[in-house]
Formats: sequence, structure tokens, C-alpha cells
Amino acid sequence: MEGFVQTVEGQTKLLVPKLSLTERVPPKMPAFFNPVAKQSRDLSILAYRAFAPRLKERTLADGFTGVGARAIRVATEVPEIERVYGNDANPTAVEAAKKSAELNNVSDKCRFSVNEVCKFLLAGNDEGERFGIVDLDPFGTPAQHVDCVLRATLDSGLVSITATDTTVLHGVYPEVCHRRYYGRPLNNSYGNEIAVRLLTSMIALTASRLELAIRPMFSHSTMHYMRVYAQVSVSRSGANKVYSNIGHVMHCFSCGHRFSTAEYAAEVACELCQHRMRVGGQLWTGPLHEKEFVAKMAENADGKSKKILDAALDEIEIPYYFRGDEISSKLRTNPHSIPRIIEKMRAAGYKASMTSFDFGGFKTDARLDRIIEVLR
Ligand SMILES: [Zn+2]
Repeated sequence: MEGFVQTVEGQTKLLVPKLSLTERVPPKMPAFFNPVAKQSRDLSILAYRAFAPRLKERTLADGFTGVGARAIRVATEVPEIERVYGNDANPTAVEAAKKSAELNNVSDKCRFSVNEVCKFLLAGNDEGERFGIVDLDPFGTPAQHVDCVLRATLDSGLVSITATDTTVLHGVYPEVCHRRYYGRPLNNSYGNEIAVRLLTSMIALTASRLELAIRPMFSHSTMHYMRVYAQVSVSRSGANKVYSNIGHVMHCFSCGHRFSTAEYAAEVACELCQHRMRVGGQLWTGPLHEKEFVAKMAENADGKSKKILDAALDEIEIPYYFRGDEISSKLRTNPHSIPRIIEKMRAAGYKASMTSFDFGGFKTDARLDRIIEVLR
């Protein structure tokens, strides 16, 4: 195909637009391919392999497949998945995807279509049935498509949903964030975890409206995207409990104090410095990682993926973290290493762990003033 070249990602050959490998921002035309998202696709291969034994129907739908990078990698590298459905509105991208499927000898298990994403998802598989796994990796926000994704997923199936509207979720446009995700962002040092929790609560609230419940299995975030894996169950009683995992994170932009609370309170004075605290959320305050699932993903992982998964396994259930450099600037000392901070906090009787959201951060149940005391 003109303007396309062959590349290899994971164990899969892919036909991709030539310019996508050289331009800093990959062009949308003739088709979109982002080489930097390899990390995200590597993790999705691990996640789908770990989830496959739980599936009733081993099918996967990829609503915004583009040149098929994720779909064809799944067809090639996840033998447990029996059929992969890829769809995109761009016919040139889909043509490249079909050719890549041939290159990997997986055309038999791949179906590609050119359609509007919700029409594709709701049409179902060859038999008109829902899918075992549904992936959505849009440009920008997934907000307007989450209903379709959830409705297209089988009971006990898996959804994987990406958001790339990171400036919105990180707090640059709070009104846009509030209307898309039903919660307020925090533009601060742990804003990426807040972003993942806003995305998760939006998916959970949408599910509950459809009499469905979600169970987050694994999440991760980088500069460019956030991504949530969640199991979906048909469960009215589960849907009724959705608010037991939704709350708020309060943050003081004056001294850095933070805490989580179930209740919304607009006017809260910081207990350390008396400044008015800002509200993050509503957002998901429950677990983001199912440890057994993450451990299974980690078995086959290496490199950066392994590092992220090991941190997720260790991570304690607190919906925010502290950065090592925040603490060292308060102490006016050289930065302590994160393992050393964790060791000291534990020795002082607090819970403490790494965080998978930031290798320069740590989680603890200790309040900011206690952390300073312990590390001084
Ligand atoms: Zn304060």
C-alpha cells in the first residue's frame, strides 16, 4: 500500500503509515498509528491473556481499530481469543488492517468492518451476540461511547477503555471534565491518578444506569493516556452499591494536605493550615487493581510492563499518593529514595507502598505532617 511500511511490534507484523514512524505527532491521514502506544498495547496483550480463562465467549471487539495494531496483535499473540472484530470509520485504515492480518496468517480469525462505532458494537458478532471483550481506544474522550461499549459486552466480560483527553482529566478545563466525567479534576502532582479514578467512576455510573456493575481489574496512566480494565456483570444489586466505591479527594493547594472522604463538602478548611480545600471528584475511591488478576498479568511481563505491574501488586488502597520531591522540598533536604521512604514509614507503624501511577511517588495512610516528622 502506498505510503505504508511494514514494522514489527511484539510478535506481530504491522503495516503502518510511513510518516507515523518519523513524525513527532503521528498524522491522522492516510491512517492513524501511534508507535508510543506500544506500552499500552503490550499491557493489553498481558491483560487479555490473563482474562481469557474467565471468558464464556472468546471474542474481542475493537471499536476504533485504526490500522488494527491492537486487534492484530491480539489475534497473533493471544491464542486463547478465538475471534477478533476490528472496526474503524476510515476505510484506508481497515484496508491496511486486513493486509496486516494476512501477513500474520490470522485472517481466518479476524473480521474487519467500516462503520460508526456504536452501530458496529451493537450489531454484535457473526451470530449477533455480544462480545467477551470490548476495547475502546478513541482520540480524546470515550465518554459518548461508553453506553454502547457496556451494552455490547457479555455478562462477566471485560471492557478496556482508554481516555486521551488528558488536559481535561488533569484539570486544565474543569467544566469540560465535570460534564464528561461527572466529577472535578485536581490539577496537582497526583492528578493522573485522580484522572483514572474520574474515568472509572464515569464508567461505573454509566453501568449502574444500565443495571450493570463493574469491577476494576487493572488501570494505568502515562502522560498521553489513561486506561481502565473492568469486568462487567449484569447485577441490579451490584448496580445499587455503586456509590459505596465513589467519593471525593480533598486537596489543599497551600500546604499539600490531602485526604479522601465519601461525603461532598464544598467548604472545608485545611486542618494543617486553615486554607480552603479543593474538591476532586466525585470519583472512584474503591480498588483499581484486582491483585490475583494483576499477578497473572505479571507472570508473562518484562521491562516497563513488569515494573508497572509489580508496583500495582504492592500498591495499598488509598486513592492518592505523595511524590518524593514534594516531601524533600518541604524538608529542604536531598530527595530520599522511594524505597527508603516506604521503609521508614513502615518502621514508624504506617502503611506504605509504591504506586503504579508514578515511580517517583509513594502511598501511605499517614497525614502529611506525620510523613514530615518521620522523615525529618
Ligand atoms: Zn493546608
